[in-house]
Amino acid sequence: MNHSSDNYDAVIVGGGPAGTSAAIHLAARGARVLLAEQKKFPRTKLCGEFISPECLEHFERLGVAHQMMDAGGAELTETLFYSRSGKSLNVPSEWFGSGRTGALGLSRAEMDVRMMERAREAGVDVLEEAQATGLLLEKDRVRGVSLKTNGRVLEVNSLVAVDATGRSRALARRLEREGKSDRVVTSRRSPLVAFKAHLEGADGHKEHCEIYFYRGGYGGLSRVENGLSNLCFIVQSRDVRACGNDPERVMHEVLMKNRRAAETLERARTHSGWLAVALEGFGRRALVPAPGLLAIGDAASFIDPFTGSGMLMALESGELAAQTIARHLARLRNKESFDETASDYRALYNQVFGARLRVCALMRRAAFVPRFAETIIFALGASAPARRYLARSTR
Ligand SMILES: Cc1cc2nc3c(=O)[nH]c(=O)nc-3n(C[C@H](O)[C@H](O)[C@H](O)COP(=O)(O)OP(=O)(O)OC[C@H]3O[C@@H](n4cnc5c(N)ncnc54)[C@H](O)[C@@H]3O)c2cc1C
Repeated sequence: MNHSSDNYDAVIVGGGPAGTSAAIHLAARGARVLLAEQKKFPRTKLCGEFISPECLEHFERLGVAHQMMDAGGAELTETLFYSRSGKSLNVPSEWFGSGRTGALGLSRAEMDVRMMERAREAGVDVLEEAQATGLLLEKDRVRGVSLKTNGRVLEVNSLVAVDATGRSRALARRLEREGKSDRVVTSRRSPLVAFKAHLEGADGHKEHCEIYFYRGGYGGLSRVENGLSNLCFIVQSRDVRACGNDPERVMHEVLMKNRRAAETLERARTHSGWLAVALEGFGRRALVPAPGLLAIGDAASFIDPFTGSGMLMALESGELAAQTIARHLARLRNKESFDETASDYRALYNQVFGARLRVCALMRRAAFVPRFAETIIFALGASAPARRYLARSTR
C-alpha cells in the first residue's frame, strides 16, 4: 500500500557524513528536511576510519565537535606510507592545513550515529530503516522519492532530492536504468575488493596511521576507540579468488608481503567480523543526474582512500549542496526552473574539488603499481616540502 507524506523542501537519501552534513546545514537555514537511511544506526561501515583534521572544523560548524572528541577515539599525529620493502615516508597531520595537529581515529559506527543524532536535534525528520526504492518524476523532473519502510511504501514529495547513498548511487543509478539520465560519466568496472575489520593486538604505532603498499593494492592501519585498531585494505579480486575468498588468507598472503605490515599484524586477531565490498572505480560521477536531483559525497565523486579525504569531501559537498539549495529555495518553492540551481552547484563543486580530483587521479597510478610506489616513496622521502605540497593538493 502506498502512503503519501507531507511535502519537504529536501529529501536526502543516505545517512553517511555527506547526507547528515547536508541535512544539518539545510535545517539550520530554515529548510524542511527529511533524511532517509536504509540501516538502523549505529552500524559498522567499511572505511579506513581516519578522520582528517579538517573534518573537525566541519564538526564544529555542524555543532557536533564535542560529541566526536568525547567518543573515545585516538589522536593520530601522522601518517606513514610504507613501501613493500619497508621504506617509509611520513606526512604529519598538521600539514593537511587546518591548523590542528591531530586527525581522529574513530569507528564509523560511532561517528555516523553522532551525526544522525545531531541532525535530529537540528530539526531534521530522520527515518531509519527506510530504503529509497524509486524516484517520483513529473515530466522528467524529480519531485520526490519512494521509501520502503516498515513493510510499506511511502511517497515523499520534495522540491529537491539529494543522492547521498555513497558509492552505490542508488538514486542516480535508478535513473540510468530507466534511461532518464543523460549526464552520466560511466567508468570501467574495477577488479578491486576492499576489506575491513577491527583488530586486537596489532602492533602499529598508537598515534600513527600506517599505509602499506603491496602488489596490486594498499591498506591502512590506525587506532580507533577501545584500544582497537582498524585495518582496511584494497586488493585485486584475482588475489582474493586465489586465497579462496578468505579475508584472513588475503591479509597474510597479500597484505603482509609488505614488510612493515608483517611486523605490525603478526600477533593481531580480529575483534569484529570482516566487511568486504567490491570497488567499481574512482573519480567523478554525475553531479546533477536529473533536474531536481543533486549528488553529494561518494555518490558525486569517489576520491582515492589513501588520501584519507573521502569523509572530508562528503562533509564539504554536503555543505556545498545545502548552501546551493538554500540560496535557490525561494525560486524552488515558486516551482521555477531547476537550471540555475544545477549550474550553480556544478560550478561551485568544480571550483572546490576539481583540482584535488585531478591530482588524485594522477597519484592513483603510483598507488597500484608496486615498483612505482617504491620509487615515489624513495624520491619523496628526501623532500619534506614536496610531501607537504602533495598532501595539501589532495584536499
Ligand atoms: C577502502 C576504503 C577506505 C577508506 N578510508 C577512508 C579514510 O580512512 N578516511 C576517509 O576520510 N575516507 C575514507 N574512505 C572514504 C569514505 O568512506 C567515504 O568517502 C565516505 O564514507 C563517503 O560518505 P557518504 O556519506 O558519501 O557515503 P557513505 O558513508 O557510503 O553513506 C551512504 C549511506 O547511504 C545509505 N544508503 C545507501 N543506499 C540507500 C538507499 N537506497 N536508501 C537509503 N539509504 C541508503 C547507506 O546505508 C549509507 O549509510 C574510504 C573508502 C574506502 C572504500
